[in-house]
Amino acid sequence: MNFKQPAFELKDKLTRFRRDFHSHPEVSFCEERTSSVIRKFLQDNGIEIQEINSGYSVVGIIRGAYPGKTFALRADIDALPMPELNEVPYKSQNEGVMHACGHDGHTAALMGVALLLNSVKDQMHGNVKLFFQAAEEKIPGGAKGMVEHGALENPYVDAVMGLHVSNALPVGKVAFGGGPGAAASDTYRFKIIGKGGHGAYPHATVDPVVIAAYFITNLQTIVSRNVEPTQGAVITIGSIHGGSKENIIADEVEMLATVRSLDDGVRDLLHKRIKEVCAGTEVMYNCKVEYEVEMGYPVLVNDGDFVNKYAIPAAAKIVGAENVIESKKSGMGGEDFAYFLQQRPGCFGSLGSGNAEKGISAGGHTSKFDIDEDCLWTGAATLAQAAFDYLEANK
Ligand SMILES: [Zn+2]
Ligand SMILES: [Zn+2]
Repeated sequence: MNFKQPAFELKDKLTRFRRDFHSHPEVSFCEERTSSVIRKFLQDNGIEIQEINSGYSVVGIIRGAYPGKTFALRADIDALPMPELNEVPYKSQNEGVMHACGHDGHTAALMGVALLLNSVKDQMHGNVKLFFQAAEEKIPGGAKGMVEHGALENPYVDAVMGLHVSNALPVGKVAFGGGPGAAASDTYRFKIIGKGGHGAYPHATVDPVVIAAYFITNLQTIVSRNVEPTQGAVITIGSIHGGSKENIIADEVEMLATVRSLDDGVRDLLHKRIKEVCAGTEVMYNCKVEYEVEMGYPVLVNDGDFVNKYAIPAAAKIVGAENVIESKKSGMGGEDFAYFLQQRPGCFGSLGSGNAEKGISAGGHTSKFDIDEDCLWTGAATLAQAAFDYLEANK
């Protein structure tokens, strides 16, 4: 079985699906229309829906004619709260909301997978679950809820796989790697509380602006001095606010930080040291340091054996071995597919969607983001191939 040609024939249909979602984007936890379009599509094609009661996430099941394992494929379906600046016929019709991460493409590609596998289910051993997952872009994320509500059970899912479009990769290429594939991403809100006063009489105050300067410098030593140099870690202070006028010493300074890591041990170390720096700052500067931490998605860890045995060979059948790239290192972005990979073996790969000649190169989460829609059929074919071949190999 090879899905290249049948997927290619779905090209126009998948483009229509994607453009419909693109022009009607919905933000995380609000994907009402998107979810109902998916439900109707599954019903129209006679595909069973597993009711898991987890927000707007939808799970389809294609049961093969023969018994076997169950393989799950996931597409996220949500958009971002930002305006679209592309002037295209399928431009967002929801003011201030845009499919700027390509999840419209993921959804369309998974609908393609549904059509491809549903048409060969009489030859299929085992089942395929289609995870149309809501709310990837917003913590706590939709994947966690799906796991908690039993998406990986009834029937028991043996392996999971997903793809994310990437304009850094030309259309027609696909990339996979074993090991970490996305970072744990946690958020801190810090408040340094000093004692305000007149800028001319600093000795009568506890100046939180000066303390903040040292505090940030000390935080930066965690990555440079405490984390092993070969490990990945990031502490970025993305926001700082305090004070109002040159001669007034502020009462407090607030900061927001993102803290990222590719390993659970490093993640623990970062949090431990941040708390120590907070406590040490209080003693050293006679101030108060308050913090709130929001733990984000965990590290996404791909199964190297699965990548070599199933993902790479499946992609090679579709785009040719020369177009399958082995990713050697992880980015520091976050991705809630990590929750599925905490539970089951599998992988999350990159689907080439860039095209320099057509001017498609803007990165995700930008207002000019778009994809080369030829990635829809290559993505659908790769996922369908991996699912079918996995079930065939494990029957
Ligand atoms: Zn995103
Ligand atoms: Zn995304």
